[in-house]
Amino acid sequence: MNLNSLNILSSKPLAFDLSLDEWRAWCQSQGLATFVGKQIFLWIFQKGTLDPEEFSNISKEIRLRLKEKFSWNLPLVDSHLCSKDGSEKLLIKDREGNLFEMVLMPYEERVTLCLSSQVGCKRGCTFCQTGRMGLKRNLSSGEILSQILLANYCLKGRRVTNVVFMGMGEPLDNFDEVVKACQIMIHPDGFGLSKQRVTISTSGLAPEIDRLGEVLPVRLAISLHSADDERRSRMMPVNRQYNLATLKESLLRYPAPHRLGITFEYVMIEGENDSIQDAKKLVKYLSGIRAKVNLIPINHFPGLEMKASQADSLRAFQRYLADRSIPAPVRYSRGQDISGGCGQLAAKREEEIHLDPRELHRQRRRELRKN
Ligand code: SAH
Ligand code: SF4
Repeated sequence: MNLNSLNILSSKPLAFDLSLDEWRAWCQSQGLATFVGKQIFLWIFQKGTLDPEEFSNISKEIRLRLKEKFSWNLPLVDSHLCSKDGSEKLLIKDREGNLFEMVLMPYEERVTLCLSSQVGCKRGCTFCQTGRMGLKRNLSSGEILSQILLANYCLKGRRVTNVVFMGMGEPLDNFDEVVKACQIMIHPDGFGLSKQRVTISTSGLAPEIDRLGEVLPVRLAISLHSADDERRSRMMPVNRQYNLATLKESLLRYPAPHRLGITFEYVMIEGENDSIQDAKKLVKYLSGIRAKVNLIPINHFPGLEMKASQADSLRAFQRYLADRSIPAPVRYSRGQDISGGCGQLAAKREEEIHLDPRELHRQRRRELRKN
C-alpha cells in the first residue's frame, strides 16, 4: 500500500491506491476471506461506486471498517471548464493545494481522457508551460486513477474508453505509479480498457521505454519535435541524456502492436523545426519504424517567444511526409478557448494564486471605485 497517498481532506490512505492483490492482502490482515478483496476492487473500479456503505454484498461491519480506515474522497475540483468543441477541462487540487489538470474529449464512438501523472515536470522543455513550473510532486496510482473515476462521474452514463498520458508531467519519471495505474486500467476487474487504448506519451526516456516494453507494452507516443540532435537538445534537455540514436534503439526494441506502431508528436514552431530540411531529417530518422506523426502548431502561452508555423510551411511539411508514406495529420489542441494545451490552465491559476493578496485587494477597490 502506498502511504504517500494521503488525500487532501484526510490523513487516511487513499482507497484507490490499492491493487487487487493489495486488497486481498488487506482482507487477509483483517482476518477476512480474500474473495472480499476482489469484491471491493470490483465496486471501486468496475462499478465506480465510491461509498463503501453501498457495497451491498459485503457485511455491514466490514463496510464500516472500510469507511473508517480509508479515504474515499475524489480530489477537489478547483474549476471545470467546458469548451465550444465539446471538450471539458478539470483543474484538480491535490492534498497540498497544488493544481493539476485533466481534459475530457468525448467523440461519437469513444471518450478520451488526457490525464496527468505528476504535478509539474522536471524535464524543462523550452516550449512547454508545465516544464517551466518544475516538478512539484509525483501523483500516486490512486490519484492518477481518480481522474478516470472523476471523468466517469462527469460523463453521466458514458465512460472513458481511451486514456492518454498527455496532461501534466513526464509519466516515465513516475514509472512505478504509472505502471500500477495502467495495470488497473486494463485489468478485466478494474476499468477493463484494452491495452491498445492506453497511450503513454514520453519525451524519450530510453531505459524506461525498454522497461515498459518488458512489463506492460501499452501504446507509445514520443514527443520528438526535432530529428536533429543539436536542436532537440536545445528544445528538450532530455536529449542530452538520451540522444536520438539511443532513443531509436529503444523504439526498435519496443513491442508495439504491428498494426498500430508508434505515434510521434511534433510541435510545429516557426523557423525552428518546420523547414523541408527538418522534414527530410525526420523521414530519415523514422525509417524502419511504423510511424504516424501528429503535427501540432505550438500553443501559445504568456512568456513564450516561439510562434506557430505558418499554414504553408505546415502544408509543405505534411505533404513531404505523406509523399513518403508517413501519415501526418495536423492536430490542433482541443479546448483552445479553455487553455487546452499541456499545463496551460494550471499555470494560469498559479499566476493568479501567487498574486500578492494585498495587490488583489487594491485591484478590487479600484474596480469598485470605477463602478
Ligand atoms: N511529458 C510527456 C507527456 C506530457 S506533454 C511528453 O512530453 O510527451 C503532452 C504533449 O504536449 C507533448 O507532446 C508535449 O510536447 C506537448 N506540448 C508541450 N507544450 C506544448 C505547447 N506549447 N504547444 C503544443 N504542444 C505542447
Ligand atoms: Fe515535461 Fe513533457 Fe512538458 Fe517536456 S513536454 S517539460 S517532458 S511535460
